[in-house]
Amino acid sequence: MSDIQVDTLRKEFSSDGGPIVAVNDVSFTVEDGEFVCIVGPSGCGKTTLLRCIAGLERPTSGSITLAGEEVTDIPPQNRNLAFVFQDITLYPHMKVWENISYPLKLDGVDADTRYERAQEVADTIQIGELLDMYPGDLSGGQQQRVAIGRSIIRSPRAYLLDEPMSDLDAKLKKEMRVELQRIQQQVGGTMVYVTHDQEEAMTLSDRMIVMDDGEIQQFGSPQQVYHEPNNVFVAQFIGSPEINLLSATCRDDTGGTVTVDDTGWNIETGIASQGVPENVTFGFRPRHTNVEPVEDLDGLGGEVALVEAVGDENILYIDTEVGEIRAVVDIERTPIEEGDTVAVDVERSYLFDGATGTTVA
Ligand code: ATP
Repeated sequence: MSDIQVDTLRKEFSSDGGPIVAVNDVSFTVEDGEFVCIVGPSGCGKTTLLRCIAGLERPTSGSITLAGEEVTDIPPQNRNLAFVFQDITLYPHMKVWENISYPLKLDGVDADTRYERAQEVADTIQIGELLDMYPGDLSGGQQQRVAIGRSIIRSPRAYLLDEPMSDLDAKLKKEMRVELQRIQQQVGGTMVYVTHDQEEAMTLSDRMIVMDDGEIQQFGSPQQVYHEPNNVFVAQFIGSPEINLLSATCRDDTGGTVTVDDTGWNIETGIASQGVPENVTFGFRPRHTNVEPVEDLDGLGGEVALVEAVGDENILYIDTEVGEIRAVVDIERTPIEEGDTVAVDVERSYLFDGATGTTVA
């Protein structure tokens, strides 16, 4: 197994409207044995970045190094990487064991040895009893496992996975996530996993790369990107329900208080305002609030337009003077109904530069 170093990697595609910069000079290192998710919205360049690492796409510039060996100009089949892509392409006329061991057939390994190795791999991913079946007899999740089995049979240097679970239903997805983590622990592999699903990235990653517009917005642990986002984009992309963002003014003389634009609301942020620009975006997560029903509202709050029950929690959608605010409350402790007027107390907040979106505090 090995580390993956990506250095000022750039990939441009030509199009009628001029070049498209899919990956814009990104650099990062995935450590040996690490599980890294690349997450970001559609079109941000995740797949292109992964395909460059795989060797399926030739970078415009920059380099890729695997375990100290530069592989930028080495064809994909000689990089000894395993890929699992969204579309499962199992061979329908081959049994499961033949599908799993197909890479060994290409290497000229005899059938008995291939069957033995397929059995070992299938046992690891708990499909040992399916070896003599055909793909057409399997469920979607089982087919996915066969595809994973085929990708790990050669003991690759690292695994590259592109949205491998996007076709699975929610329950199966959860099971496969646990399964993947187990496989990774057993085989000890370095994994790079592309997804647009931030929740999936948060549960799977040791560290995650948040991408937007061909650039890395942040590379850190799930805790870091959630609690210490680099900018408004990361704060908004990570976390559910989405962070609340309000335009506000921060003046040096008000000791850490911001005034929400177009209202008289002064909100104590606990953040020293020195060095903070005057125009800011004030952000707070729906979970970092205290909500109280009130008779007369004075400050941040409004009327509860919708209560959405999710397990033991309610998500409140509150109509305020400056648009909708979301807050999460415990169903037992804070019984609130639609139509109630509520005051929102912010427990923890962020300030972003109003012009650039960069986190200032
Ligand atoms: P998705 O989640 O929708 O798959 P993504 O984040 O993986 O998106 P990419 O598929 O890497 O994004 O695409 C990044 C950009 O590069 C997009 O603007 C896309 O249209 C463009 N692009 C990707 N492949 C090609 C190609 N072969 N030719 C031209 N443009 C391409």
